[in-house]
Amino acid sequence: MFQPAPKDKSDLPSILLVEDSPTTAVLLSKYLAGTYHLLHAKDGVEAWEMLEGDPEIELVVTDINMPRLTGHQLLVKIRKSDDPRFKNLPVIVMTTTDDNADRNLAFLNGANDFITKPIDEMELLARVNVHHKLAQTIRELEASRRALAEQATTDPLTRLKNRRAFFENGNQHLSMARRYGTDVSLIVADLDFFKRINDSFGHQAGDEALIAIAKVLLQMTRTEDTVARIGGEEFAVLLPDTNRLGAAVLAERIRAAVERDRFSAGGQLLQLTLSIGVASYAVEQVDTVDQLLSIADQRMYLAKKLGRNRICVNNDGKSNFAS
Ligand code: GH3
Ligand code: MG
Ligand code: MG
Ligand code: MG
Repeated sequence: MFQPAPKDKSDLPSILLVEDSPTTAVLLSKYLAGTYHLLHAKDGVEAWEMLEGDPEIELVVTDINMPRLTGHQLLVKIRKSDDPRFKNLPVIVMTTTDDNADRNLAFLNGANDFITKPIDEMELLARVNVHHKLAQTIRELEASRRALAEQATTDPLTRLKNRRAFFENGNQHLSMARRYGTDVSLIVADLDFFKRINDSFGHQAGDEALIAIAKVLLQMTRTEDTVARIGGEEFAVLLPDTNRLGAAVLAERIRAAVERDRFSAGGQLLQLTLSIGVASYAVEQVDTVDQLLSIADQRMYLAKKLGRNRICVNNDGKSNFAS
């Protein structure tokens, strides 16, 4: 006859039982075993150490009166912690009698539920199940909210920020610069003769090349910078706290790196080049990131006109940085 394989302990959700009485602990463990992987702490101090060390713990059932650290004190520690994993950690408090003061204090401190001793097996299991399920649902909702938020700001091909995120971040950086009297610069880079790559080696090869360029841009910038794909083969890098000179130095470094690299795409090793325009808030005194983009864009087109594979940091295209 078919026998389902016994559940491995590691497959079961971990819950932490905090109880100083060994007899009660053994009894409660029996009630919950089979459904949960039960961990046991003898007091609040031990419980806190276990919680900090084990991110797998999904729920806590705690006694109140215990040596060293009481259930109330443990609850306060959990709710006051900055660790996001404790924010929605369900905590069920066991009260000895129908003690209203204890119950009120537990709720005030952020308990999700309480259960009165002597503990009824069915009641304990039902409450643990409900709160475990609820926490799981909250985690799933938060994960899908994060995924959606990321999707809305990410370019699906390169995983860089998309045009929308570029404008959002750009306007934020601009208002910071205005408020604190700092600078913010923008680099706009467009691939030269990119249509030829698609025409010669196929769209797929073109896509691979775009992904490779995105990687170079990410490698050459800081985490505070916003690297975005704002058009088909056009990229933008927002540089907070960076003046025109700093931006020009970086733009030239990017230009030179791309010219030097060979990019593997569609089974070929390709050479690619960029035409780059640079604009800085402190110099242009613009009001919006739209205006800064349009200036950087004009300079990028000037770089094209002057022969491509170069950077332009002003409107006549004369700079020490032209290749
Ligand atoms: P220029 O030096 O003047 O910028 O020439 P270019 O060929 O790069 O510019 P043009 O604007 O004529 O063409 C851009 C081309 O970029 C058109 C299209 O073939 C290609 N392109 C745009 N988006 C994508 C994309 O997502 N994937 C691929 N593979 N190619 C793209
Ligand atoms: Mg006790
Ligand atoms: Mg182009
Ligand atoms: Mg273009």
